[in-house]
Amino acid sequence: MDLAALTVTELREQLRSRAASPVEALDALERRIVSVDPHIRGYLHRDLEQARALAAAADVTLPLGGVPIAIKDVLNVRGQPCTCASKILRGYIAPYDATAIARLRAAGAIPFGRTNMDEFAMGSSTENSSVHPTANPWDITRIPGGSSGGSAAVVASGEAYAALGSDTGGSIRQPAALCGCAGLKPTYGRVSRFGLVAFASSLDQIGPFGKTVRDCALLLNAISGHDPQDSTSIAEPVPDFTASLDRDLAGVRLGMPREYFIEGIDPQVDSAVRQAVRHYESLGAEIVEVSLPHTDYAVAVYYILATAEASANLARFDGIRYGHRAENPSNLLDHYGRTREEGFGPEVKRRIILGTYVLSSGYYDAYYLRAQKVRTLIRRDFTRAFEKVEAIICPTSPEPAFKAGERTGDPLKMYLADIFTIATNLAGNPGISIPCGFAAIEGVQLPIGLQLIGKPFEEARLLNIAHAYEQSTDWHLRRPTLP
Ligand code: GLN
Repeated sequence: MDLAALTVTELREQLRSRAASPVEALDALERRIVSVDPHIRGYLHRDLEQARALAAAADVTLPLGGVPIAIKDVLNVRGQPCTCASKILRGYIAPYDATAIARLRAAGAIPFGRTNMDEFAMGSSTENSSVHPTANPWDITRIPGGSSGGSAAVVASGEAYAALGSDTGGSIRQPAALCGCAGLKPTYGRVSRFGLVAFASSLDQIGPFGKTVRDCALLLNAISGHDPQDSTSIAEPVPDFTASLDRDLAGVRLGMPREYFIEGIDPQVDSAVRQAVRHYESLGAEIVEVSLPHTDYAVAVYYILATAEASANLARFDGIRYGHRAENPSNLLDHYGRTREEGFGPEVKRRIILGTYVLSSGYYDAYYLRAQKVRTLIRRDFTRAFEKVEAIICPTSPEPAFKAGERTGDPLKMYLADIFTIATNLAGNPGISIPCGFAAIEGVQLPIGLQLIGKPFEEARLLNIAHAYEQSTDWHLRRPTLP
């Protein structure tokens, strides 16, 4: 048996029954990585020596005992590099564990590798990584999505049992959709952001990638809950997210947002999602139309708020406290200026400049304040829609994976990749993407993602709804053929 092909749930069985050991699970993964990652390039770094020591001592009776987990390069893991795929953090070694990592460790998991991403999580294709791009496992000439493209690609290609990512405007769900795995953005406040390098603090949320919905639930169990070190983490009770996965869907009401089924979405995506809607009807769900009337403003509002917050958050990269430092500065301003000029890539600079502009006096009211007000309207749209339904059903991405290099010169076109995921972050609701079909494009099969959006702190129901679809279809069982 190839252990690397297993889900976390299956691997746990093997480890608990002692049919396999954690060291064997790690070795199987390493063999897979060595053969496949030269093509995918999903990892930036792996710490196998330490991982092997942890595996040898792992307590397999813990919920994730001995399970290696891949981590997006934006989360601090003590003793490992944490660069956000940016030159400015090259050489930075995390001095502490993020809370999500500490909790994974407490559940017995082994964070062993750093996955590639768009620099500082800004992007939708992982092409903004300063290190190298990552390929889509279904067609290596295409992008894996972003910004957590490395995490999605390594799970889809069997180079990881599961992974963590972060989602500010779709960065877990969109790459999960494009790579054909499951990816969950929890409710804002469900998972502590302590130790997550901040991009846009009012939107950022950490979440899991898995081969199945159940695996996402297992990881969510481990990482959720209030943390005194993150004042935005909320003291809601954390249920066992696996306990209600098998609940019957009879009578559940799902909403199709009128504004999300529009012209311009790829016809194969549209038809796969509509097929999934019919499938839900066959499972007993009732489908109703809902409206999210402020959808058209979501992308604009996001790119004002996210850049404003980023310009403030990224001010800390000044060459004094972290990472890269310009040589022989003539004075302090020259030091700051050249350090940032040399350390940040073009997209990060674009966002810092845009964010500084929208916050500047004279423009603050016209842009930032106005965007905050529209955010409230967007949030209200969701509150109203959720008076009628338990989940919203829609596409995750308007199209399957595009070709590498196709959008790099056109940031606006790239920003539209997030059109269906961004509003969820603005509203704070949880959302998941699961595979719901394939598009045949130029002779290759490319995964299509179905997005389900839930009520705040009702991830248990959301996962249940996603699981019911997954378990009665076989899209999640398909694997890419790799070189
Ligand atoms: N693609 C979006 C952006 O570029 C979302 C990124 C994210 O969720 N981190 O900002």
